[in-house]
Amino acid sequence: MFVGFGYDVHRLVEGRPLILGGVHIPHTKGLDGHSDADVLVHALMDALLGAAGLRDIGHYFPPSDPAYKGADSLKLLAYVVELLKKEGFRPVNADMTLLAERPKIGPHVEQMRANISAVLGVAPRRVGVKATTNEKLGFVGEEQGMAAYAVAVLEAIGPEA
Ligand code: MG
Repeated sequence: MFVGFGYDVHRLVEGRPLILGGVHIPHTKGLDGHSDADVLVHALMDALLGAAGLRDIGHYFPPSDPAYKGADSLKLLAYVVELLKKEGFRPVNADMTLLAERPKIGPHVEQMRANISAVLGVAPRRVGVKATTNEKLGFVGEEQGMAAYAVAVLEAIGPEA
């Protein structure tokens, strides 16, 4: 078994859709970024890559590359899962915590788990999606941005691992 950790932050701005775990959530602001800025999936990708001993997402999906402008982060996640397979790994489980002051995330958690588990090729119960406010403290509390932490466990499926 191989464990990895990931962290990501994106700025909240007006005029952008809010996409978390592949779910479009109605809100007054959205996350800014080159791709769809899905902070939860970005943290997860870094956890998966880290567990496999690979580089971070900035290495595989450079923000300077126009191919990733507005990219669906679930598609990037699918690419990461393919990369893991080539390296001889498959995901076992993952757990994420989103830091967001608003809006309420609870109603969307099951859809996020369904989206992410489908791409990872695991059962939804192997994917934890949790959310907390930051008690109005700091950049998250002041609604300037959102952050996410993730851990992931992989198992070796080939000799390369
Ligand atoms: Mg990011």
